[in-house]
Amino acid sequence: MRILLASSEALPFSKTGGLADMVGSLAKFLARAGNEVGLVTPLYRGLRERFPDILPFDWRLELPLGPGRVAGGVWRRQAADGLTVYFIEQKDFFERGDLYQERGVDYADNAERFLFFSKAVVHLARYLPWKPELIHLHDWQTAAAALIARDQRLSEGWVAPPTCLTIHNLAYQGQFPAAKFALANAPASYFQPDGAEFYGGFNCLKAGIACADLLTTVSPRYAREITTEALGCGLDGELRRRQGALHGILNGVDYEEWKTEGNPYLAHSYSARDLGGKAAGKAALQRELGLPETPRTPLFGTVSRLAEQKGMDIQLAALQEMLAADMQFVLLGSGQREYERGFRRLAERHPAKCAVRIGFDTGLSHRIEAGCDFYLMPSRFEPCGLNQMYSLRYGTIPIVRATGGLDDSVVDASQDAARADGIKFTEYSTRALAKAMRKALVLYAEPGLAGHYQRNGMARDFSWERTAAAYQGIYRLLLDTPGKTFPERI
Ligand code: ADP
Repeated sequence: MRILLASSEALPFSKTGGLADMVGSLAKFLARAGNEVGLVTPLYRGLRERFPDILPFDWRLELPLGPGRVAGGVWRRQAADGLTVYFIEQKDFFERGDLYQERGVDYADNAERFLFFSKAVVHLARYLPWKPELIHLHDWQTAAAALIARDQRLSEGWVAPPTCLTIHNLAYQGQFPAAKFALANAPASYFQPDGAEFYGGFNCLKAGIACADLLTTVSPRYAREITTEALGCGLDGELRRRQGALHGILNGVDYEEWKTEGNPYLAHSYSARDLGGKAAGKAALQRELGLPETPRTPLFGTVSRLAEQKGMDIQLAALQEMLAADMQFVLLGSGQREYERGFRRLAERHPAKCAVRIGFDTGLSHRIEAGCDFYLMPSRFEPCGLNQMYSLRYGTIPIVRATGGLDDSVVDASQDAARADGIKFTEYSTRALAKAMRKALVLYAEPGLAGHYQRNGMARDFSWERTAAAYQGIYRLLLDTPGKTFPERI
């Protein structure tokens, strides 16, 4: 199949969260399975310096954006056999300090930036000589491309390839004032409650949900959850209407990156057969973060965006209570100021038990995953979540709230004692999380049982080959049934 993927972030080029891991891996594993894959992503600041083999592609872009036209360029990198990455250059839009925001404030022209990017995606889909057979969009930043492709198909007679939109997180929708809809240069008929309009504003994700031929999300449980009022973020009605086209596919893990042996970020290798290196990694982590090197103190860790979604309020409160016990906690993360402050304060209050690093650090994220005994992830909601799957492979027992992908990927003893690999709790409360942590302390005191959990977790297989095969199944559905799934309402 000839597939054009489009995303505002993708590893190894850019990342703010799991979207980048997922798209980078999907591209790599689809190409490896023999598909012809193009990946379109913005040319952010510093990329050409970091990747000198990003070369000019002889294309000038001159795309309508509202009343004017905006010029840009295309660069490209042959990343692997069958995988070409196309970088959209637009200096004013993408040569910035960060991807979407700085100091917690969104860039004021995000609508312009990502509508331009979405148009560039459609332009490539239309004119690339290898003629992509389908376009796979990711999240709100590219969702409007489904509307733009549909419009060009209807108004210009172009046989646009079908579109698949993956929702990585329904909480981020790309909502802008109504006037920004003009940037799409699409007929006003799309700006209505069945289309891109949402409570009087322009909603990019909703445009994609209405116009894409197929919708997917990153875990089966989240696919069900987003059709409910509780987790539908206001779009549950729209998603229920499109339920027949909505599929949930659990993300994979790139085990070439996330490995306990021969990992450049880890000084000590280990495996399920020999966990000695894990104990050495724990000691090294305690040393690195300035905690007492006590091998028998259970060490809990978290690597996360510090956002409400991640359950940081109950985590802070539960830790305040639980740090009275014999345990340690380490955190790497950044995000909402109040949580950054809260965790810093916690570390100041418990310097021998709690270490906090505010920032983004891939190496340290691996060392925390590897060096801890338990991984805490009490998310309010979680489309898929990757860190719990990394923890399982690293022999670090995850403690998760049973929601979305966390519920799909972790097995609690109450579900299956023989296959248990983590601890789950259901109620979103400090009390429930603290209780789950107390269960962890009991488990830790029984090394035989904890070892059973670790071995189960390390044997779990979330490899990308499976996930990529599932996406290929979806693509085939799209290509074999042209027009059948295409939404005709607008
Ligand atoms: P989300 O996409 O909602 O942030 P996921 O669990 O799906 O959550 O993916 C988060 C990804 O980002 C993981 O690969 C995680 O290790 C990484 N990550 C999050 N915060 C940091 C950080 N401060 N430093 C390094 N990596 C981080």
